[in-house]
Amino acid sequence: PDMMSSMPKGLTAATGMDALTHAIEGYITKGHCTISDMFHLEAIKLISENLRGAVQNTPEGREGMALGQYIAGMGFSNVGLGIVHSMAHGLSALYDTPHGVACAIILPTGLEYNKTVAGERYRAVGKAMGVKGIDEMNDTEAADATIAEVKKLSADVGIPADLKGILKEEDVQFLAESAFADACCPGNPRDTNVEEIKALYRSLM
Ligand SMILES: [Zn+2]
Repeated sequence: PDMMSSMPKGLTAATGMDALTHAIEGYITKGHCTISDMFHLEAIKLISENLRGAVQNTPEGREGMALGQYIAGMGFSNVGLGIVHSMAHGLSALYDTPHGVACAIILPTGLEYNKTVAGERYRAVGKAMGVKGIDEMNDTEAADATIAEVKKLSADVGIPADLKGILKEEDVQFLAESAFADACCPGNPRDTNVEEIKALYRSLM
């Protein structure tokens, strides 16, 4: 973690939110299994507890993030990701949007989209993130509280909430086709198509 102590705040926030996206997408991806779940839930916990501190450059935050991002990698590299990554890749290619910023902006939208098929798995994500009272919530409330917690962490570390000023309408078709053809797309828990991905991009404009 000492080696990361000179990382700028913005880079720490972006790469940290990328790691959180790896852990959450990996946890809900089609191919998830007991072993990957174990890594992803621990990574979500570590990242939620330490990303704010890492952005403030505390040694504990840096150490927690070094561990959290690595454990997330041990999970998702075995099972794949989903459309948040599929949609993020094209933004970085077209607009030079930092990968982690693109992932962080799209993550809540991806979670909303996947709620109908993977929503019952969000409770464990929210629990790992420390959402208070989640055990007393019904499945819908727990899923919504989890998405709200993801948005809060992203905002707390200074990531914008949408793609206003980044995404251009004339690129939506190309981006959606690219996202659909992306290697991460088949792992998404909800089967998707180009038209639905276009709508997801437009919801962020
Ligand atoms: Zn990533």
